[in-house]
Amino acid sequence: MIIYIEKQAKNYKQTKIILDKFKNSDIIWIDNYKNLFDKELPLWSNKNSFVVAKLNSAAITNAPNWYWHNDKTSYFFKTSLNCIFDCSYCFLKWAFKNDVPIYFINYDEIRLQIEDKVKNIWVSLDEKEDWNDYELNIKTDLKYKDKIWFYSSDYSDILWMDNISYFLKNFVPFFEKINSPFHKIRTWENFIPSMMEVRTKSANIKAILDLWFIPKNTEFAFSLNPQDLIEKYEHWTSSLDERIKSINILLDKGYNVWLRFLPLLPVKNYKEIYGEFVKEIKTRIDIKRVSSTFVSGLLYTKSDYNNILKKYPKLDILYRLKDEDWIFIREKREMRDYFYNIFRDLDKECFICLDKK
Ligand code: SF4
Repeated sequence: MIIYIEKQAKNYKQTKIILDKFKNSDIIWIDNYKNLFDKELPLWSNKNSFVVAKLNSAAITNAPNWYWHNDKTSYFFKTSLNCIFDCSYCFLKWAFKNDVPIYFINYDEIRLQIEDKVKNIWVSLDEKEDWNDYELNIKTDLKYKDKIWFYSSDYSDILWMDNISYFLKNFVPFFEKINSPFHKIRTWENFIPSMMEVRTKSANIKAILDLWFIPKNTEFAFSLNPQDLIEKYEHWTSSLDERIKSINILLDKGYNVWLRFLPLLPVKNYKEIYGEFVKEIKTRIDIKRVSSTFVSGLLYTKSDYNNILKKYPKLDILYRLKDEDWIFIREKREMRDYFYNIFRDLDKECFICLDKK
């Protein structure tokens, strides 16, 4: 194993933990992770290296409009880049120049950014008199939707990476504690929980079970697709069977579990494949015990679509997408409606992402 470590990351606790764990590795000290990250490298096929770095830029970005929860108080945050898995349709294919995993280790600073974000929403709203429309909306929405959401795992499969990053140990307890004051009068009822989503295609739930408590403010979201499609398009991810077994273990123990059916892929015999898939889910998972379900088709903005097409001109599913509306290249209406109907039949509250039903 070769570990590239930024010199500025040397004295962080997390780096020391990694060094301790990989005692027999070759260590190469580097000035800046971007010197590796910004290079076209062959696919990280031998899986024998990773990078440890300090994140100096913003860890948090706003979630796009209509992503799911209240779009004005939903955020992505990153503690790592690149993914061990190889999903053919993934935006990381063209977003980054190579797939060497980058682990950021300055957790204290990243947690501080999250705390500041939560605090600032309220400081700015509590103490202002001249509200603009945007701020008024946040204030009103929060009263009703009453949670602030942080989605981890946007740039990697954070659960899979946990055996090196110890992400859960460092962030799940943190999210149990941060709350946003609803009002100047700080009674218990006036605090709003800040929630975290951990999304994964891995079935390795050891790190979750090792937490030794059931978190209230973290939801574990499993992305699911039919096994044939996992084999064809989601290379190296856990099998459907393994994921379902892990989901059921967590449900039995009382964890908050979400099911994410995404992206639903435009394969030729999609009706048959997804019809069977929903039947399997129905028989193997007690949907009533799941916190929520969520569906999304495969979609790209026009520029992203052109990028992935350039990179993977032979990827069949790309050619079954259409220029359907002014934002996205996506599955045709009839196919999306079929998907939404079967998943609404599974769970009538199933949330449809970035589309109307
Ligand atoms: S698991 Fe997610 S982040 Fe990783 S390659 Fe697949 S789609 Fe991309």
